[in-house]
Amino acid sequence: MAKQFSKIGLIGLGVMGYGLGLNLAKNGYTVYANDVFQASIDRMVAADPEHIIGVKDSCDILKETNVVITMVPNSPQVQEVIDKIFADESKIPADMIFIDMSSISPVATRDIAKQMEAKHITFVEGPVSGGQSGAMNGALTIMAAGKKEAFDRVHEIFEAVGKNIIYCGESGCGQAVKVANQLMSAVNLVGMSEAFEMITKYGVDPTIAMNVIKNGSGRCWAIEDRMPQILKGNFQPGFKIDLHTKDIKLATNMAESMNLPLPVTNLVAELFKTAQNKGYGKLDNCAIIKLYEDLGGAEVRAKE
Ligand code: NAD
Repeated sequence: MAKQFSKIGLIGLGVMGYGLGLNLAKNGYTVYANDVFQASIDRMVAADPEHIIGVKDSCDILKETNVVITMVPNSPQVQEVIDKIFADESKIPADMIFIDMSSISPVATRDIAKQMEAKHITFVEGPVSGGQSGAMNGALTIMAAGKKEAFDRVHEIFEAVGKNIIYCGESGCGQAVKVANQLMSAVNLVGMSEAFEMITKYGVDPTIAMNVIKNGSGRCWAIEDRMPQILKGNFQPGFKIDLHTKDIKLATNMAESMNLPLPVTNLVAELFKTAQNKGYGKLDNCAIIKLYEDLGGAEVRAKE
């Protein structure tokens, strides 16, 4: 089927935005790429100069296209982009479409949906799962939400960057599912770290334990995807502890807004905060194991 859109604005060119830009370009879209860091814009353009155009001032994107995607860290940055590019309503193109693919607060997302409605801008959220490799390979899981007809319209864009594209409901529902996913992955990482420090200190080879548990009821993304990196001692992000801490706080704030107790998540939030205070915030989230290694003194690494 012929594409509806040919030009797309992309704001936020970090770990995930870079992969989005590459795959949009690969699928024939002209990408107008912006970031607060010029070096990130230059890197994006260098990846495919034929299809990717660097834009220094994000407001200039609206001179070229009526479709903008954000892939920035959190709610305040999404709001910052909105306040900047949609400030002058006379410069908003007709039939403007705004897609936020960052992982942000479901509560803030409902508020953004209202702001967009007041400005007659079509709004769809599409937070993702699948990490850097999913972004680079166009294989992300996308937890989309908003008005169903709006989701149907932007589906071709999601198809260019994702493999599992799931409509989760009205605005906020996609972010809520993403928050649940992040809560569970954080809890699993902590549980795995606790268990592996215990058995490594006892004297079990952690590679053997990983191969067993991958086929047992303790299997999870943490053991399948992250434990091989821990065993190699590779803590380069990936998904930073700082960003995962942000997601855990999104969960505790969301629950707080409904007066819902989250006992385990609040404990895990304290452990992630401790990891940040120890200086591990810029490392991959699997570096949470270092907390336990510091406590127990046994390094969970593959034997030579
Ligand atoms: P990142 O820190 O690598 O990139 C974010 C980029 O946004 C940076 O380049 C930053 O300069 C830019 N930015 C911030 N504010 C901006 C603004 N106002 N205008 C323009 N650019 C701005 O983060 P990331 O890992 O790419 O994550 C982006 C989002 O995706 C986050 O919400 C994160 O939680 C989510 N996410 C990340 C992963 C992962 O594995 N890294 C996986 C799933 C979801």
